[in-house]
Amino acid sequence: MDIKADICVIRFAELSTKGKNKKDFVRLLRKNINEAMRGFDGVKVVGSFDRIYVYLNGADDKTVLARLQQIFGISTISLAVKVEQDIEKMTEVAVALMKRETPTTFKVVTRRADKTFPLVTDQINRALGMAILDNTAHLVDVHNPKIKVLVEVRPAEVYITVNTVQGAHGFPVGIQGKAMLLLSGGIDSPVAAYFSNKRGIELECVHFQSPPYTSIAALNKVLDLARKLTAGQSEIRVHVINFTDLQLQINHYIPESYRITIMRRMMIRIADGLAKKRKCKALITGECVGQVASQTLDSIQVISDVAVLPILRPLVMFDKNDIISVAEKIGTFDISIRPFEDCCTVFTPINPVTRPAIYKAEFYEKAFDYLPYVIECIEKSETIFVKYNEKRAEDALF
Ligand code: ATP
Ligand code: MG
Repeated sequence: MDIKADICVIRFAELSTKGKNKKDFVRLLRKNINEAMRGFDGVKVVGSFDRIYVYLNGADDKTVLARLQQIFGISTISLAVKVEQDIEKMTEVAVALMKRETPTTFKVVTRRADKTFPLVTDQINRALGMAILDNTAHLVDVHNPKIKVLVEVRPAEVYITVNTVQGAHGFPVGIQGKAMLLLSGGIDSPVAAYFSNKRGIELECVHFQSPPYTSIAALNKVLDLARKLTAGQSEIRVHVINFTDLQLQINHYIPESYRITIMRRMMIRIADGLAKKRKCKALITGECVGQVASQTLDSIQVISDVAVLPILRPLVMFDKNDIISVAEKIGTFDISIRPFEDCCTVFTPINPVTRPAIYKAEFYEKAFDYLPYVIECIEKSETIFVKYNEKRAEDALF
């Protein structure tokens, strides 16, 4: 007997808040689930106060489940099978579902919402429990069962659940509003995106390119990374900044050891201006203390000094190996390690200063009038809309 689930029962994560906050949480989670389910024909999302039900209406249960597991704000998901109010049919389905599981311990737990059903809870538990014992290798453990066979007797039908899987936890994306992520083609910034989404922050991205020193392949790589990030939020805007003119000015006017520092300060100024225009409340980077010369505490201080919005650095204390594990889990690692030219690497000087000072950075920046360049970068930025499950979007740029 091959059985497919009819309904996914969704429970909420991290819900310690009550009242209006809980309402916002549930409303947003429902909206995000609805958006994620858009590609599945017939699927219907219905919310109640403490659960969300996703009716599959024939859609593939495994595919829907996999998609639901990417959505932040969900703690657990149960796959339930709908059966008639008939003890024979209920037993048959429970046995069939348990046959698909590796033998372990179980317990049947019934909730009888329909009190007119002829059998009481205990009788249902016993009937299903006996049938499972007789027909499978599972054993009963009433105190600490590995599998709970949940039976919910409703007015018109019965739901039976065997599998409860973990959701992505965290908060629904958007509950904190928006932030602007500086997205490079590297390993770190996509991982920073993942953790930001998980805390409920919706992202827009800004990427700096320096054509002709950086190629269209480098931009495509960044768009491929952004496409992976749509697992967490169904759509993402990538603002592409043409950084070449400003970088050439930096190369011309700034002493070599300070070029990276000044370049970073310019990136922050541009991202900051763009973020305010796009109503973002913070900047986010993939920076991590100590990785490279531009990420010493001194550098972080000198770079942060030009920002008006707060800069969040989700990976600031992470070890590289731990960042890589997450990058592998979210599927960005293989894209990030493709060879490419980053605007930073193209102009990287041989000996960048590791302990820059704010007063020196300010002094060097007086060498040229950078503000018009910064403004031009913001005004001429091009926006690419990346959506979940779409092929390539690079054509949209031109
Ligand atoms: P990543 O792997 O994220 O590129 P990294 O360890 O290579 O990080 P850097 O290249 O120094 O470190 O970059 C630090 C951060 O600056 C990045 O995580 C990213 O947020 C931002 N950044 C660097 N280059 C760019 C770029 N071309 N466009 C947008 N943001 C960038
Ligand atoms: Mg990088």
